[in-house]
Amino acid sequence: MIIVVRDEATNEQVNQVVARIEELGYTTHPSRGAKKMIIGIIGDLNREELIESLGAYPGIDKLVPILEPYKLAGRSFKEGQSVIKLGDNVSIGDKKILVMAGPCAVESEEQVMSTALSIKASGASVLRGGAFKPRTSPYSFQGLEEEGLKILRRAANETGLLVITEVVDPRDVELVGNYTDIFQIGARNMQNFFLLKEVGKTDKPVLLKRGLSATYNEFLMAAEYIMSEGNYNVILCERGIRTFEDYTRNTLDLISIPVLKKLSHLPVVIDPSHGTGHWDLVGPASKGAVAMGADGLIIEVHPEPTKAMSDGQQSLKLDKFDILMKELKNIALVVDREI
Ligand code: PEP
Ligand code: MN
Repeated sequence: MIIVVRDEATNEQVNQVVARIEELGYTTHPSRGAKKMIIGIIGDLNREELIESLGAYPGIDKLVPILEPYKLAGRSFKEGQSVIKLGDNVSIGDKKILVMAGPCAVESEEQVMSTALSIKASGASVLRGGAFKPRTSPYSFQGLEEEGLKILRRAANETGLLVITEVVDPRDVELVGNYTDIFQIGARNMQNFFLLKEVGKTDKPVLLKRGLSATYNEFLMAAEYIMSEGNYNVILCERGIRTFEDYTRNTLDLISIPVLKKLSHLPVVIDPSHGTGHWDLVGPASKGAVAMGADGLIIEVHPEPTKAMSDGQQSLKLDKFDILMKELKNIALVVDREI
């Protein structure tokens, strides 16, 4: 249920409504848009009781039921597009398309530092890199863990970039949160509800990757898990889904961009690296994503892809990334965006 607040309602009248709803045992989720303020009431609602209890409050314009199962992530909760602040001068969801780049896995100080310097010069704003890398095989490289987080933080601080890194275990949310600016939830963890709730209790932005075979509905319900804990700073990331086609690593679902934007107000990011699995397909996929309205890209790059400990085959060399950034600027202009 959504309460639409009257345009002329005073703060005191809004506070009275919020207090009454909470007295009835519900949680409130206020959201102030450019034109209207609304208050979401989520949970197992007794509609008759709510209508009866709230009918006499002067601050209320109307009560509207939300039909979608995703209440906070859905369109009804917010007019327009969510803009999420990531750092002092960096946000996502506005005119500027956010570019995140870096290696699949943090391997060494030199690898991360040279990558950070180069992507910064090319115009990226966020440094990516995995410090916890549970892989398909338990015998593959598993990541540098806390040492990797420290390397990322140092490189980001020295270059003026932000950090995004994956958290894979609810018990590590605090540790990873001490080093990162944005939490990444991996595709395989999209429905790890304990992990979603744990990052939902923080106020750090969360990039949520779509599960390997998740529908849009399941994807948005996973976002809802994070938001229902109070953290509205959720970024959706399409990274390819599993289909019968095995030439590409996954099938990158670019139509998800307009679909998710129709269903939700949350920013949408495309991962062309895991989405294709081939470095030479990363450029075309990125260009298509920008043309279709993506709010951001997360791209794997490596100073020496042939020596990468993970995902070298889909990582761009630093100079190739630089060229791609220049090409993307032109495409962004055509769709009235900037990179
Ligand atoms: C990654 O970004 O390195 C990663 C493991 O991605 P995904 O969760 O999409 O497979
Ligand atoms: Mn990877």
